[in-house]
Amino acid sequence: MARTHYDVIIVGAGSVGAPAAFALARAGVQTLVLDKKPSVGQGSSKTAIGGIRATHSDPAKIRLGLRSIEIFSTWQERFGDDIEWYRGGYSFVAYRPREEKILKELLEIQHSYGLNIHWYDREALLEIIPDLNPNGLIGGTFSPNDGNASPLLATHAFYRHAQRLGAAFHFNEAVTDVLVEGGRVRGVRTDKGEYGAAVVINAAGPWARKVAQMAGLEVPVNPDSHEAAITEAVARFLDPMVVDIRPRPGSSNYYFYQHYTGQIVFCITPSPSIWGYDTRETSVFLPMVARRMVDLMPKLKNIRVRRTWRGLYPMTPDGFPIVGWSQEVAGYLLAVGMCGQGFMLGPSLGELLARLVVEDLEPEDHKVLAHLSPHRQFGEEEKLK
Ligand SMILES: Cc1cc2nc3c(=O)[nH]c(=O)nc-3n(C[C@H](O)[C@H](O)[C@H](O)COP(=O)(O)OP(=O)(O)OC[C@H]3O[C@@H](n4cnc5c(N)ncnc54)[C@H](O)[C@@H]3O)c2cc1C
Repeated sequence: MARTHYDVIIVGAGSVGAPAAFALARAGVQTLVLDKKPSVGQGSSKTAIGGIRATHSDPAKIRLGLRSIEIFSTWQERFGDDIEWYRGGYSFVAYRPREEKILKELLEIQHSYGLNIHWYDREALLEIIPDLNPNGLIGGTFSPNDGNASPLLATHAFYRHAQRLGAAFHFNEAVTDVLVEGGRVRGVRTDKGEYGAAVVINAAGPWARKVAQMAGLEVPVNPDSHEAAITEAVARFLDPMVVDIRPRPGSSNYYFYQHYTGQIVFCITPSPSIWGYDTRETSVFLPMVARRMVDLMPKLKNIRVRRTWRGLYPMTPDGFPIVGWSQEVAGYLLAVGMCGQGFMLGPSLGELLARLVVEDLEPEDHKVLAHLSPHRQFGEEEKLK
């Protein structure tokens, strides 16, 4: 008979759920992952462009980012799978005093956390990124330890190794209810059956609010759509992820990098935000982002775009994830609201979730959890989204 009772049930096999299952299975926790989609990473995960950095502006994401980089960068030697990790760094460029000021102020915070990121004046930055448009360039930051990897390959690798260690995955199975008795989680109901567990982890990405409501909880996570694209592959000419934070009509920042396999992958943040679950590509995105990118790096005009897509950021009001136990329902663990960073945060967050479940927190975890608490005031806005 098929098994119906587990220690932990994870709702969602995405950027967070797959690495969480891996970390839990490694800790010997009997884990079931349920996903309504047909295979791993089919929600927001596969729409991420693959950027991975620790150079954030707050202690929680910095700690998570540093650990994730360790996991991604050593994955192949430890577990054998090529997840297309490439340590090309990140560079935030400044063409106006406004952006120079923002980035230099951020550097002070980032240095206070010991991050390897520095300011480079125009000539020095052009040595790192020779194809940047030199006209009007003031300089920019560069953090050489950051990088990128393939969201598809990485999420799949976590899934396979979680399975190898005994985690169960059920695809094409939607969670329709979270079972709560006497203020405690008892399990979940799906469109196919019922499963018991003392812990349910909500890792449902852009659908997290609905899965929280199943337990009578409210979490401020809303789907915010972003478009992205990939070009044909060309010989390597660009190392870092380049980020331009100048707002323009219709968009705020945009960013692009050259993937391990040669393609340029890029996306843009629409302004104002486009809320909702619509993931049909628009005709606005490509002309808008292409103009901005070719202006920043004229050489890009020679590369052909192969495909565009539109995915969802699971957004929170302050731009920070929501991670921790519910105070209202015992055994309900939130790992939601990853905004534009769920791929890069996923691996370290998975480990943190496992430590929460087995009650083996490290001293630094308490600071991270305080910052990302579901019970915080959602007032402060993130400095560098
Ligand atoms: C264009 C774009 C570019 C991005 N670039 C980056 C980047 O460079 N770096 C980065 O770190 N992040 C990036 N992101 C953000 C990243 O994709 C998300 O933050 C991340 O994928 C969220 O992970 P998640 O596991 O929370 O959600 P998901 O990956 O969406 O996983 C949630 C899963 O839950 C399942 N689910 C939901 N409800 C139910 C239910 N009731 N029953 C069963 N299953 C359910 C879904 O099917 C889904 O598979 C980007 C996003 C977009 C759109």
